[in-house]
Amino acid sequence: MAQAAMTVQDEERYFTLVSGHRIPAVGLGTWRSGSRSDDSVFTAIVEAGYRHIDTAAEYGVHEQVGFGLQAAIKAGIRREDLFITTKLWCSDLSPDRVRIALNNALQELQVDYLDLLLIHWPFHLKEGASRPPKEGEVLELDMEGVWREMEKLVKENLVRDIGISNFTVKKLEKLLRFAQTMPSVCQMEMHPGWRNDKMLEACRKNGIHVTAYSPLGSSEGGRDLIHDEAVQRVAKKLNKTPGQILVRWAIQRGTSAIPKSTHSERIKENIGVFGWDIPNEDFEALCRIPNQKRVLSGEDLFVNKEAGPLRTVADVWDHED
Ligand code: NDP
Repeated sequence: MAQAAMTVQDEERYFTLVSGHRIPAVGLGTWRSGSRSDDSVFTAIVEAGYRHIDTAAEYGVHEQVGFGLQAAIKAGIRREDLFITTKLWCSDLSPDRVRIALNNALQELQVDYLDLLLIHWPFHLKEGASRPPKEGEVLELDMEGVWREMEKLVKENLVRDIGISNFTVKKLEKLLRFAQTMPSVCQMEMHPGWRNDKMLEACRKNGIHVTAYSPLGSSEGGRDLIHDEAVQRVAKKLNKTPGQILVRWAIQRGTSAIPKSTHSERIKENIGVFGWDIPNEDFEALCRIPNQKRVLSGEDLFVNKEAGPLRTVADVWDHED
């Protein structure tokens, strides 16, 4: 999007990345959206005004998302006004797999470039690894080799920005030692039930924008923040919905947020977060919600209690929690 054409209204709707590009403050999540992804993407873009769609190879919805994007473009939305994020799955985290994975993503999404490509989780899994992984299925990650390949994609204009997800401070510091192209974005689980101040601070210090995933507390097996007493109280006071309070809270922290829904009313509701503020005292009350805990610990994906390298959830997060 032309940077010069930014209006006051636009300003609230975007964050500027270290690359100079802009990321929309609210995006649509697509994990577990299944066959409804195409309709959700279309509704979000054309009817609700979303410009950012977050997806991942691992969600198995690239094709449906692609149909939704194409339908939106046919309806008159310009590709250059959209911000499309996808992620490299763990079995593609080797230097020789990065370009293949990118090409698959472009083809499935029916686009010729991505706005943002993330490392989904910083672990290399053997193709077809079980959940939880069997012995030998968590391989050594050549982070530098993978990042070099991602940097090439930026140089070739196949990807506008590259970034990371589910990193720790330790892994971020390692990446920053060799990165020639900075990670523009770090996507992390963040909501009032898991603020993750430590990672937010580390990213801020390095000029890396944070996107809050699972901003509503996620779905199945997640945390029910929609019915949290503090969230409900603030929602009632401000005459907003709990979903809007949670998304607005994320934006006021300086993070973008990518709430997922396949229901058109909720999709529209979740982006109704501009032109008003959560007052300081209420924002602080939301920051004090007790029992801080991750929903997405990575246990089912990476932990094998009998055979390392990741024997506990604490190992996944480098014992930083
Ligand atoms: P969210 O926190 O976005 O919550 C989604 C759940 O909330 C769904 O069950 C949805 O149901 C429901 N919901 C949506 N809007 C409302 C509303 N206004 N009121 C009440 N309930 C509502 O969870 P996700 O875990 O899906 O996270 C969002 C996105 O973040 C993902 O879809 C994905 O794109 C990304 N993500 C990235 C990860 C990573 O590793 N980088 C990990 C996890 C997520 P319904 O659809 O029925 O409306």
